[in-house]
Amino acid sequence: TINVFHYRDSGKPNSSSDLPLESLKKVLTEDSAAGKVKRKRAQTPLEKYYLKYLCVTDLSTQSWCEQQMVYGRELPQLQVPETVVLLNTGKSIHLARELEVHDVVRVHVTSREDSWAIKILNLLSVIPELQAGGCVRELPVFGVIEDVFLMGIIDELCYSATGELELRELKTRGRPFMPSGAQKKRDYFQVCLYKYIFDAMVQGKLKPDVITSHIQLRPEQPLGSQIREHAQKVGFTVTCFGDLLELMYLNLTLSDIPGIDCLKIEYSHQESNTLLGTEVVRFEEEKVREKAQHYLAYWKGQREVQGVEIEEAWKCQSCSYSEICDWRKKRAEGPEQRSGPKKSK
Ligand code: SF4
Repeated sequence: TINVFHYRDSGKPNSSSDLPLESLKKVLTEDSAAGKVKRKRAQTPLEKYYLKYLCVTDLSTQSWCEQQMVYGRELPQLQVPETVVLLNTGKSIHLARELEVHDVVRVHVTSREDSWAIKILNLLSVIPELQAGGCVRELPVFGVIEDVFLMGIIDELCYSATGELELRELKTRGRPFMPSGAQKKRDYFQVCLYKYIFDAMVQGKLKPDVITSHIQLRPEQPLGSQIREHAQKVGFTVTCFGDLLELMYLNLTLSDIPGIDCLKIEYSHQESNTLLGTEVVRFEEEKVREKAQHYLAYWKGQREVQGVEIEEAWKCQSCSYSEICDWRKKRAEGPEQRSGPKKSK
């Protein structure tokens, strides 16, 4: 689009609609050269969906099929009912496991800072348990990759018999057998991102101002009375959001908690609750960063959305969006119809 401009010479027309075509072209060219004609910048997906941060699961879902992840956000009502049931059962199992190690209490929030204060308090309350060599579940983690703020929840962190800090991710399955290689790849990426973020936190890379600037939170915002009471119960006296951020930073960096040594994924069958198998995941930092960079480029508006490549077209067979999928239609028309690099990561 072109901004409104005025033709200023005396005795000449003063609006674009009065100008002869050649004069209009000349004015446009001159104004463009002077930087006066500005194109409106297209919204990035982060802006379009009003997102100040992404979840780790957004990126792992994206690694299965980016186009499907976008449809899932825009058209959740088209998801096949079996998928919804599977997801809900998975959530209930996770909650049951969480309740095995701690109680869940309801706290009234009065501001966005209060909501984030709860996440931080959840993190702060497990640090002593980890320091004491205990096992913690549902641990919130935050961090920044490629200038995008990410948040995730680690299922379980425990010390192994040999003293290594072990991350255990529980995946429940509707079918009584181990997942395909492609599904495992998605899960590997998820746990690697958790390690990447967690390690940065305990290394002191998550400074208080990183959170406030990315999420646009006010450090001076007083915390609600229920948050302050809850903080007091778990041993912290705080008045404003900034107090909690400082506490988090100091506790993480002074706690001597190591980085994660080992990544494990346990697959279990939902119905029978039997363990199907355990995968140990190798962490390769450079590869994780490269992958994250690729997926985040979409969110930052640096490239168009991509669906699966022809070798992975089998994923479309069980996809809720196969009937309406633009990427699939364009793929059927030929490779020249698509935009973006030839091979997705
Ligand atoms: Fe992705 Fe295929 Fe589903 Fe389209 S139909 S969203 S390309 S899995």
